[in-house]
Amino acid sequence: MDAPLSRALVPRLDWLAEAGSTNSVLVAAAGGADARAYPDLSVVVTDNQTEGRGRLGRVWTAPPGTSLAISVLLRPELASGGSLPPSSLGWIPLLGGAAMARAVNLLLARAGVSAGAGAAVVDGPRAVVKWPNDVLIDGRKVCGVLSELLPGAAGVVVGAGVNLFLTEEQLPVPTATSIALAAGIGAGASTTAFTGDDLMSAYLAELIRLYRSLTAANGDAAGSGIGAVVASRCGTLGQPVRVELPGSVFETGLATALDVNGRLIVKRDDGSGDLVVSAGDVTHLRY
Ligand code: ATP
Repeated sequence: MDAPLSRALVPRLDWLAEAGSTNSVLVAAAGGADARAYPDLSVVVTDNQTEGRGRLGRVWTAPPGTSLAISVLLRPELASGGSLPPSSLGWIPLLGGAAMARAVNLLLARAGVSAGAGAAVVDGPRAVVKWPNDVLIDGRKVCGVLSELLPGAAGVVVGAGVNLFLTEEQLPVPTATSIALAAGIGAGASTTAFTGDDLMSAYLAELIRLYRSLTAANGDAAGSGIGAVVASRCGTLGQPVRVELPGSVFETGLATALDVNGRLIVKRDDGSGDLVVSAGDVTHLRY
């Protein structure tokens, strides 16, 4: 399938008719013998992903042609030379979610969902990031983000599975939604209201913008303003949350902020101070 809008934004875009997992394809290709053929911002995408993965071995499923699996290779080169400090790596998946939230809101606005609200909708509250790796529309999951390091930390692959045209009957879990459903568009949306290329190009443009800001500031999320952008799109902040840590340890509290490394700060309900949660530590976050 052609994707001219997206193709114009990146040095390499491989549209696969089918893939087990686009993340696995890109990690293997960009970390293998042919690594030099996969520069920074190479993309592998399919609308038929058969073995989509979430975190911790969970599965991501969608009928062929209804969603996109988009994997983007980042090989960060900082303004100062060198690569992203490990302390900044936690921001990468958050950039994916923040970019996707904006792209989804753009499409919803274009589809006229919030007719009359105009540009304010673009950064508005309909699609938000559920820290650390989901994008929700009105509380239902439209996208999951999964980031994976290349061997030897030679790069990071940011994978996003996003539901475009699933109908209510096609949703794999009741907590899911699709852009077409949220926009109130029925079957046939793929040929009329928006295309996968519309969504992907909006996502890539925003991801590239955020990523370049972060690398230009040598990974300093606060200094670059990236921390504030991500926080402004994060629906978790200000919410009461229940965090499941490994070993079935549960903590409850109020999500108050993101720290300098993109970790979630939770003010414990029992008054025993702040809990700082990194994406790798949390198995479940509910609110
Ligand atoms: P959760 O979404 O349950 O909080 P999580 O954020 O860790 O967990 P991921 O690992 O990112 O989830 O994604 C896997 C989960 O997403 C699955 O357990 C399933 O509940 C859900 N899921 C699978 N396919 C889809 C889909 N197409 N749309 C929305 N949600 C899906």
